[in-house]
Amino acid sequence: MIEEEIVEYYKLLYLRGQTTLLSGNISAKSEQYIVITPSSMPKPLLKPSDLVYIDLEGRVVKGNKAPSSEWRMHVAIYRRRPDVAAVVHTHAVAPTVLAERIDSGLLAESESYLGGGIAVVPYIKPGTWELAEAVAEALGKSNVAILSRHGVVAVGSSLAEAVNRAEVVNDLAWATLIKLWAGRGP
Ligand SMILES: [Zn+2]
Repeated sequence: MIEEEIVEYYKLLYLRGQTTLLSGNISAKSEQYIVITPSSMPKPLLKPSDLVYIDLEGRVVKGNKAPSSEWRMHVAIYRRRPDVAAVVHTHAVAPTVLAERIDSGLLAESESYLGGGIAVVPYIKPGTWELAEAVAEALGKSNVAILSRHGVVAVGSSLAEAVNRAEVVNDLAWATLIKLWAGRGP
């Protein structure tokens, strides 16, 4: 079940330090609906029944919790990218701080997994339509966007693909830092 998958993948992201207890959100398409994590709950402790179904207008169609405060961002991305089946938003520190300084040429896996470059979106207040539209626009040509001073958004044709892309961006950020620290390339 998609709810169980979302809950399990969230735990993995939390255990890898990609989110704090309350930050970030994940969604996946289920036919014409979006299944999304709820707002203001400790994410690694979520139960499948805590997830919320919304439609592409953001209306809650199933679930007794409020959807993530970033539901507009998820809706805007699915509207813009019909090929996307999952959206992962983390608050991973290294990619967020490095943003456009990330050197995606350092790891060959970025070419095979990201399927495009890393977009960088300027800081815009979280939870707004303005941020949602800016991220959807950035993801028109990319599968990963870094939101300045905020976090990472990765999309994919499955949850595994979206989660993996978020991890690859995190690895690229660390590879960039290691290169800077070492003072030379690998
Ligand atoms: Zn966020």
